[in-house]
Amino acid sequence: MKHLEKIIVGNWKMNGSVKSLAVMIEALKSVNMNRERVILCPPFTLLGAASVANVAFGAQDVGAYDSGAYTGEISAEMIAETGAKYAIVGHSERRRNYFETNEIISHKALAAHRAGLIPIICVGEACTGDECAADAQMPAAVEKQVKESVPEAITNFIIAYEPVWSVGTDNIPPAADIEKAHGHIYNVLAGMGKHAPVIYGGSVNATNSLAIMSMKGVDGVLVGRASLLPEEFIPIIQSGK
Ligand code: PEP
Repeated sequence: MKHLEKIIVGNWKMNGSVKSLAVMIEALKSVNMNRERVILCPPFTLLGAASVANVAFGAQDVGAYDSGAYTGEISAEMIAETGAKYAIVGHSERRRNYFETNEIISHKALAAHRAGLIPIICVGEACTGDECAADAQMPAAVEKQVKESVPEAITNFIIAYEPVWSVGTDNIPPAADIEKAHGHIYNVLAGMGKHAPVIYGGSVNATNSLAIMSMKGVDGVLVGRASLLPEEFIPIIQSGK
């Protein structure tokens, strides 16, 4: 069954400029959509400029501490001051390239929560489709990440399920695997006394977004590359209605 009001997150990663953001903001103005459900996540330096967008926006990461001697870090409070409402934490690129552990991610999610931001907590297995099926690593890996990355104190958050091997490639898992993973995450959350939207991320584009958002248990999508250009991002937004 296709649910209404899907959440669409655009993760620009380390891409974009003042100019390309202005182009996106202008293009989004005339799109008929639920503006609170579309969340643009440009680099930190563009958050101020994103505040004039008529959609929600957020950061791609957040410091784990509130303030102090943490050179180069950006606190959740600073992000909230721009008008941002969300912060992605635990993206697989941060887990892999910056050695972020579940513990660090949990601290970051808590810092976001303290500042009134809604954390978008990313989880996902590193094994490939076949390996996952063979050793059932996928549910175990995802379960551990959910249990250890979602802080006990938070109730308002989003889980982004992103199989690591699908991010930045053009490979997406079969529908049955996505539905199984989402169902598993809901069950793990329920065991923790929690409920949250679970969105899918990994090579979402304008061609596959409708099919993905029609899958059971998929509450929306986290889009990387295809969120950079209005001509690719807008059809994805429209397929989530
Ligand atoms: C992402 O950035 O989280 C992502 C899923 O990227 P892409 O859509 O490019 O695979």
